[in-house]
Amino acid sequence: MVDMNMRVVEPRKLTTESRFKFRCHPGVACFTECCGKTTIILTPYDILRLKTRLNMKAADFLAQYTRMELHDKSGLPMVIMDMPRFENRCPFVRPVTGCTVYSDRPATCRYYPIGQGTLITEEGLDEFYFYVREEHCRGYEEQDEWTVATWRQDQGVDRYDEMNRDWKLMMLRRAENGGPFTDDRGNRLFAMVMYDLDQFRNFVFKSRFLNTFHVDDDVKERIWDDDEELLKFGYQYLKSALKIEDTLEVKQPLGPGPGATTMTF
Ligand code: SF4
Ligand code: SF4
Repeated sequence: MVDMNMRVVEPRKLTTESRFKFRCHPGVACFTECCGKTTIILTPYDILRLKTRLNMKAADFLAQYTRMELHDKSGLPMVIMDMPRFENRCPFVRPVTGCTVYSDRPATCRYYPIGQGTLITEEGLDEFYFYVREEHCRGYEEQDEWTVATWRQDQGVDRYDEMNRDWKLMMLRRAENGGPFTDDRGNRLFAMVMYDLDQFRNFVFKSRFLNTFHVDDDVKERIWDDDEELLKFGYQYLKSALKIEDTLEVKQPLGPGPGATTMTF
């Protein structure tokens, strides 16, 4: 799964030990040029961080800043930062101060000018890296030296990768097992669990969900007010629904209604 404009991707697979020179700072002539006219796919963890940073409900964040598209390979919904709505600029960039959500910026922004791709193999997910060389970017003329590993550490991407891995796994597995098809109900459920944690929390605690699935009391306590725990629980639930892993125990036979998982993916 690759999220970048392939025209600017160097056709060379990097490892964590690959070396490159780069530095980005407010003094570069191209400052903030990369924050526009591009496609940024927002992962579930990106959305969690941004809506928390902006003190917004997920639904309001999604409505105000994003659009939804179906992933071409899996048919599952993806959230894209809707730059065309903001004159092809990221809504969070300012000309002098730059990124106004910097400490909660999405994974794609953290990795840049490195891109990350993910393949699914028999052993599981294979994450690899590549160099993105956009003509306007002057950062690669600077002399600071990095390996992909030191860059990843500097940019704090570990937590993002850890929290997004199951989302990628589901997209790639769905793509592998039959490719894209549209099931509105399944897609709506996937979008709610992955991208709208406030609504998912209501779904868990205010529908028949807890009568349908066995959920330990300590898990209920954790997901009540902790979005990261809720997202991890959402992965468990969707992986059960997608039949990737049998992670949730069903208490009683499923019938129609909000607690049911009879949708087809
Ligand atoms: S989130 Fe920040 S770093 Fe990413 S495109 Fe927007 S302004 Fe630039
Ligand atoms: S284009 Fe490159 S150097 Fe310029 S602001 Fe963006 S990342 Fe930094």
